[in-house]
Amino acid sequence: MLDASLVQFPKDTRRFQQFIDGRWTAGASSAEIVRQSPAHGRDVTAILVGTALDVEAAVRAARIAFDDGRWSGLPSSARCKLLRRVADLIRRDAEDLAMLETLEVGKPITQSRGEVAGAADIWDYAAGMAQALHGDSHNNLGDGLFGMVLREPIGVVGIITPWNYPFFILAERLPFILASGCTAVIKPSEMTSATTLRIAELAAEAGVPAGVINVVTGTGPVVGQAIVDHPLVDMVSFTGSTNIGRSTMVNSARHIKKVSLELGGKNPQVVFADANLQAAADGLVYGMVANAGQTCVSGSRFIVHRDVAAELQKLLLAKIARITVGDTLDPAVKMGSIISPVQHAKVLGYIERAKSDGAELLCGGGANTELLLSVLPTLFAETRPEMQINREEVFGPVASLLTFETAEEAIALANDTEYGLSAGIWSTNLQNTLQAVRRIKAGRVWVNTFMAGGPEMPIGGFRQSGIGRESGIYGVEEYTEIKSVHIDMGARSPWLV
Ligand code: NDP
Repeated sequence: MLDASLVQFPKDTRRFQQFIDGRWTAGASSAEIVRQSPAHGRDVTAILVGTALDVEAAVRAARIAFDDGRWSGLPSSARCKLLRRVADLIRRDAEDLAMLETLEVGKPITQSRGEVAGAADIWDYAAGMAQALHGDSHNNLGDGLFGMVLREPIGVVGIITPWNYPFFILAERLPFILASGCTAVIKPSEMTSATTLRIAELAAEAGVPAGVINVVTGTGPVVGQAIVDHPLVDMVSFTGSTNIGRSTMVNSARHIKKVSLELGGKNPQVVFADANLQAAADGLVYGMVANAGQTCVSGSRFIVHRDVAAELQKLLLAKIARITVGDTLDPAVKMGSIISPVQHAKVLGYIERAKSDGAELLCGGGANTELLLSVLPTLFAETRPEMQINREEVFGPVASLLTFETAEEAIALANDTEYGLSAGIWSTNLQNTLQAVRRIKAGRVWVNTFMAGGPEMPIGGFRQSGIGRESGIYGVEEYTEIKSVHIDMGARSPWLV
């Protein structure tokens, strides 16, 4: 790894083709999208604008690679070894991958390095899952019958990913999908495609056969839509906004295609009066500003017991004041920029609306003028549940405070949302904690911590936050079909004698 203090802005724009059937290709594309670092406003990468013809070529390649068994027909030990090799190559190229992620997304370099290292660990874990996957047997069906339950890879999976954690989110899906024996056609966000293209290249270097991983770049309405609509794609794994998730589900219905969706959230952090407030303040601020708040599981509604609200507020403001917002290439910086001018304007719009709705601005409330496209950590008090700031996902470093008196009220406030992605609970009382764990509707719940975890644990949402689970054994099983097999043991009595 380079000396952290020597990180330099690269001189050249990195240009990528698409990766289809084991090789780089321009395909049918004739146009480019140039990406600027949102933190610097300088060109960093260029990708091709893929077309429906490119999707056709990629899906055909993935279909053939699946149907001829070059991947699903391998012993699981062989798949495991190849996926482990990918993990090793990620570690070899960690600095390059982290740099690409920082430049395209606008996140601090230290954070990108952590995500790349974490992603390599996920690939290692998922490699083992190739061997852990198994079916079941039923030896209790009587003397005449024996039952087996087989898990078979579902086939060709279309993977559509967002811009907030392009490399990490892909790691939470792709190696599990490959471990199950499926092949993939991936469409990354047009703003952040570089590390997805690099992973296809690294997998080929590791020895993953041609056609198993294909990456088509370009826009959602063209490339993403063509993947969702394609009859030879058996399943779609979509991560992004609830609106596009909904249309993905509707469009998948035409071919009764299975979908896995990880969508938005308006996630509560509940702080009981008996909580360790120092720890809670740290966890709340981390969950609010990590990745500049552009995290699906961000905690954006702080639901705090009335007795400790004033003290917690003081601790939160002291923590927020110490966050360094600045150049993403500076290893000391904790928070970088917002992904795009559109998203930047959207976040500032939410802040203005909260102010005009009567919320009290405690800190932040605008951009950091020293850094392009940044938003200062922003906290609102005196909010009401029905305000827009408590209902819609901002996807920026913005949170609001709500207070409660009884545990019943806290849980009702936590569940007062159409989403159900994540929740934090801060308490030293076992009963409060377990009641809240049981009753809050969310796919991921953290107790006295936030955004902790490992690839063993499933991820996904309740309600409008999604369908299906990624990661862990659940994330491999998600991409399998179940077949029940009934075997006569020689005792079958004829139907017609
Ligand atoms: P989108 O849902 O628009 O994009 C996610 C992915 O879907 C991208 O690759 C996008 O392509 C693709 N896509 C867009 N339109 C279609 C389509 N018609 N068919 C198939 N795929 C499509 O999210 P955004 O990036 O625009 O972010 C908007 C909001 O979504 C955020 O403000 C945030 O609230 C939420 N979000 C949630 C995330 C999560 O992790 N749960 C992650 C990111 C965003 P492309 O963008 O290249 O056109």
